[in-house]
Amino acid sequence: MDETINLLKRLTEADGVPGHESEIRAIVKEVLAPLGELSRDHLGSVICTVPGQSASPRVMLAGHMDEIGFMVRHIHESGYIYFIQLGGWWDQVLLGQRVRIKTRSGDVIGVIGAKPPHLLQPEERDKMVKKDEMFIDIGATSRAEVEKTGVRVGDAIVPHAGFEMLNIEGRYLSKAFDDRVGVALVIDALKQLQDKKHPNTVYGAVTTQEEVGLRGARTSSEVIQPDVAIVLESDIAGDVPGIKPEISSVKLGKGPSVLVFDGSLIPNVALRYLVIDTAQELGIPLQSSSIVGGGTDGGAIQFHKRGVPAVVLGVPARHIHSHGAIIDRSDYDNAVKLLVALIRKLDAATVESLIPA
Ligand SMILES: [Zn+2]
Repeated sequence: MDETINLLKRLTEADGVPGHESEIRAIVKEVLAPLGELSRDHLGSVICTVPGQSASPRVMLAGHMDEIGFMVRHIHESGYIYFIQLGGWWDQVLLGQRVRIKTRSGDVIGVIGAKPPHLLQPEERDKMVKKDEMFIDIGATSRAEVEKTGVRVGDAIVPHAGFEMLNIEGRYLSKAFDDRVGVALVIDALKQLQDKKHPNTVYGAVTTQEEVGLRGARTSSEVIQPDVAIVLESDIAGDVPGIKPEISSVKLGKGPSVLVFDGSLIPNVALRYLVIDTAQELGIPLQSSSIVGGGTDGGAIQFHKRGVPAVVLGVPARHIHSHGAIIDRSDYDNAVKLLVALIRKLDAATVESLIPA
């Protein structure tokens, strides 16, 4: 296994739902510590400063460390556990999936269940089961039995799913590529910027609580005071059966993507053109993408002070917001190259020119 695979495996297998990021944060801090000076906001985000040839402009990179998951809402007297979603889950990817409940005294494994189809009337069997009718079964038959394991209301719940290298060369499967792939991009870019050959200062922010409303991005912007921001995300690959090209033409293995639109941000147009030109110079394939149903950390960062030009780069992923997303290694490697080349271009005059005249 090479360094990148190790990093992606380690980052995606770590747990950390919004507001409960201590496990993933410890890993992020350990990996970032040798790369620059670490600071933080008070919501758990980690910021690594890598000085270059000039104190300004201040270039913010942002990848979010939190992953979607759940929280224990109620322990029923029958021993079943009801949950709140942290981040957006689609009902249809939940049933039968294993989860890990993070208690103060250790992890408890369970499975998401609902009424068994064998016991349903035929018309009921055809209906979609909603999240709020589902529960987590840890094998208990009473509330007392559940409580003996340490499970309490408010405990975080994460998908129980590991990293796999698939049989197809360069394709990886794991939970939480959203957005540990963005976290890995921040880390790999900062590694390459150790040569200090960039006309700015780079602040690599690994933010918290993105999935519940871009919260750590807002508070880490207060710490960084960015002049420009590059947000690193998992993008949504549209190359699954039934998706028409007018909805999405983003394909796995066809290069990183640059967002033209997301639900929280209109990326800065001049900066997006700079991304396109840089990709062309490097001979990197680049896809254009739009995420109509969802926002990114850029949505919060752009509001800092008088506004911050921001752009979003993505690594296409199939099946995000589930137990198993798939990414392509060449998309990842090209995203690192593109990101580093872009940062090396962001001198004072260039960043100034991004501001709408
Ligand atoms: Zn994300």
